[in-house]
Amino acid sequence: MRRGILLAVGVGVMLGAGADRAAGQPATGEAVDPAAELVGRLDLERYKATIKGLTQFGDRRQGTRRNRDAVDWIEAWLDEVGCATERLHYTYETPPPRPRPPIRAGGARPLNPTEPTPTGGRIGRNGSGPGGSSIFGYRRRTGVIRDPMLQPDEALRALNMEEPVDGPRSQVYCTKIGSTRPDEMYILGAHMDGHGFGEAANDDGSGTALVMELARILSAPDVRTERSIRFALWNNEETGLNGSRAYVEQRRERQGLEDPPGSGRYPEPRWLGMIQHDMMLFDHGAPGPDGEVSPVQRREADVNIEFQSSSELAAESRDLAFVFKAANDAYATDYPAMVGPHMTNTDSTPFMNVTPSISLRENERGMHIGAGWDPHWHQPTDRYDTFSDDDFRLGLNAAQTTLAAIAQLAGAAIVEP
Ligand SMILES: [Zn+2]
Repeated sequence: MRRGILLAVGVGVMLGAGADRAAGQPATGEAVDPAAELVGRLDLERYKATIKGLTQFGDRRQGTRRNRDAVDWIEAWLDEVGCATERLHYTYETPPPRPRPPIRAGGARPLNPTEPTPTGGRIGRNGSGPGGSSIFGYRRRTGVIRDPMLQPDEALRALNMEEPVDGPRSQVYCTKIGSTRPDEMYILGAHMDGHGFGEAANDDGSGTALVMELARILSAPDVRTERSIRFALWNNEETGLNGSRAYVEQRRERQGLEDPPGSGRYPEPRWLGMIQHDMMLFDHGAPGPDGEVSPVQRREADVNIEFQSSSELAAESRDLAFVFKAANDAYATDYPAMVGPHMTNTDSTPFMNVTPSISLRENERGMHIGAGWDPHWHQPTDRYDTFSDDDFRLGLNAAQTTLAAIAQLAGAAIVEP
């Protein structure tokens, strides 16, 4: 189902960048919609190639050489496409281990790799089932693979062998500076670290590549935005959102400050919203009674846009989520979007009480991914070759969604380069 590009023109005019739009209009006087033009610059093969590029560093686990090499590679890539990079530095120390929770019948618990993959079984809502969970239907146990020897590919196993060491960390971001409101920005994020001894292709190479592709398109010389946009590739997500937490801690108080005074420069523009992308590819439906998940993308696959209903900015975040839903309605080519109130366990969480925050994902984190809908999550099978074009296209549709929404929100225009 190809939808929407023609419908989009009206939306673009309505939300468009006022006088800035004039430069993007052809001589015939026919309106050019900047969002449609920019979305047209996304390309499935380029998106796949950027994911593939990230997978050369294995699972990019934090605290290792393969992670630092990936940060360097992302930084060089962003500079190459014209998005000037900076780094945020912090220190990561592994917290003392927490006592393990007792195992509940039907409940999720990390896999023991020496056991065959266990399956869950049908459970009910709000504790009516044996799991005492709010998840409906069949579920499949989830967990993080901790044994590198479970990666059958010898070269990848060798690449992923180094264990993390506590200490200094850094993460990269780059910024498109706004033409009329350089002091305000939207933040587009994804985490570049992974684990599980695969290639972290989906979690979260798919989100990282999405943010990188948007940085490339929005940094083109003929693209102007009224407001600033920052592209952030968080590190240490898998250890507890430590990279994004460090960013909020270090930079929250600097929002909107002109530095040096009178320079017209805003090192930390005021935050207008944070949009996270985490696991974009795989929506194959629920496990069956045997715990198995379909090998093909389901016909009902969609982009899940979530806000957190318990956050202090729930209403503002919900409104932001529906801007993205409308952008998907108008501009996405293949897959629709749904909005839900359960954003959790990703790098938008540290932002959610400070600025409107949403996440885009393949599925809802708690109800779906937590119930085992993605059997490659944190597994050695999270590899580039595991995914089909139908999977990659779901990620591309999320990219279309965010690019169209941010073009409208930041006031994008196509101008003479
Ligand atoms: Zn993730």
